[in-house]
Formats: sequence, structure tokens, C-alpha cells
Amino acid sequence: MATPAGVLARDGQKLRQALGLEQREARLEVRILLCHALGVARAWLISHDRDVLAEPAAQTYSALLTRRLAGEPIAYIVGSREFFGLEFKTTPAVLIPRPETELLVELALARMPLNQPCKALDLGTGSGAIALSLARHRPRAAVTAVDQSREALAVARENAARLQMPGVRLLHSDWFSALDGEIFDLIVSNPPYVEAADPCLQSGDVRFEPLSALASGADGLDDMRRIAAAAPQHLKPGGWLLFEHGYNQGEGCREILRRQGFLAVETVRDLAGLERVSMGMKHPG
Ligand code: GLN
Repeated sequence: MATPAGVLARDGQKLRQALGLEQREARLEVRILLCHALGVARAWLISHDRDVLAEPAAQTYSALLTRRLAGEPIAYIVGSREFFGLEFKTTPAVLIPRPETELLVELALARMPLNQPCKALDLGTGSGAIALSLARHRPRAAVTAVDQSREALAVARENAARLQMPGVRLLHSDWFSALDGEIFDLIVSNPPYVEAADPCLQSGDVRFEPLSALASGADGLDDMRRIAAAAPQHLKPGGWLLFEHGYNQGEGCREILRRQGFLAVETVRDLAGLERVSMGMKHPG
């Protein structure tokens, strides 16, 4: 008869073998799947370590484990992911929010006044993680978020509703296409930036994520170039443009920003010490 303790040992090992995870990670994933199947919090598992798992929850758990063993990302299986202290619904229509993107949110917040109105734009919002995090921490800001995928926008809308932030404006738009004549104080984007031929697209969680949110031409910078070229027309003088990018794209991204006339161009490293966010300011004059 299966108990949480037994399942943890047995299936932790299975996950390590199937997906090459570290032991800690594999055991954490088993706990996440068990909690999801049983509808309980993590603390419950610890205090009921030796209880026999009841049907039908045990079967539900087995089905979830089978999906995970086939490589499906845990965020899609349980249907949500925590980002910047908020819980976001995640489906295969959207990129799974990643911890390194929290740096982009922090740098954007540092450029948004706390007690004054300001207009911010998130390009390619996906689940809405960036836009909704900005809105949560800057209640006076008018936040607009766009995506060219209607399926992604539906997920972002649901997240806005769940998080009770109906004020965030969500628009169907191919970058700036639906924003003619609109001007913002700040524009942020985590655009697709992976090189089209990068073998990482064929491994791990990424295989299950939307390619349109990941790949962007031969050097991964096609969308960044497009956005940076159009951004000055949509920024106030002195307004900021911030991009997340790949660990090896800092130089390329700075070059793109400078070529479009942005000032104070710089790159900030993430917690892993990798170049991750680059930004520039439109001329204030
Ligand atoms: N950081 C993601 C990855 O390498 C890419 C996200 C993106 O393209 N915006 O898997």
C-alpha cells in the first residue's frame, strides 16, 4: 500500500532517471504532484507521511506522474506557477514564468513612480506575469499588455480576473500594431530571444512551450530589433525601454538600443551572474 513516504522514495528515483533531475528537485516535484492530486498543502504531506493513500487520489497522482515522466512541465500539469509572489495560471498557450524574469520586473518598478500616475506597456505578455506584477506594485500606473496570441491573452485575462486587477488593459496586438499614436513612460518586454537553431529548443520543458514565445530568427534578436526600432515613437522623452535577453546577448542588445538612439544603455546581471536585462532611455530633450 502506497504512502507519501514510499511514493517519494520510489517516484523520486523514477523522475531522476527519466528526466535527469537532481534528487532534491525530483523529490520536490513528487511532493508537488502529490499535493495537487490530494488537494492538500505541503505541510499535510509531512504530518501524514505514513498514511495509506486513498483512491481515487492515488490514481489521479499516478496519471500526473505519467505525464511528468513523459517530460511535460510541472507548471502545465498543475496549471500554475508562482512569480513575483503571485500565482499565475499557466497553460501550453503561454511561456512558463521564470525566476530570472523577476529581475526585469524589479528594474521596471525602479523606473515607475510610486505615488504618481505613469503609463507602462508590456509587449508579449503571455500569462500576464510581468504586467500584473507591475500593476500590483504600482496601483497608480496605467498598465497595458499586448500579445499576438489570442490564446495567451485569454490566459492573461483569467489571471487579471483571479488576481483582481481588472484595470490592466489587455490588447491583441502584434508588438505595436494596435497602439498607433499611443505614448508610454516605460516599455518592457521578455520577447522571444532563442536562436532558431538552438538545440535547447529540443530539450526539457521548452519542448512543450509555444515556439512563438521562444525563437526569434538566426541570432535570436529579430524581435528585439523590431521592438527597439518602433519603441521611440511610443515613448515619452526620457522614457525607458527594457528587455530580457539570453545570457550571451547583452552585447547584441546594447548595440541594438544604441543604434536606435537610446541613452544610458546598460545591462544588469541576474542572480546566476549572467547578463539578463538590458535597457536604454529615450533622449529627454
Ligand atoms: N529564458 C527562456 C529559455 O531560454 C527563453 C525565454 C524567451 O525567449 N523569452 O528557455
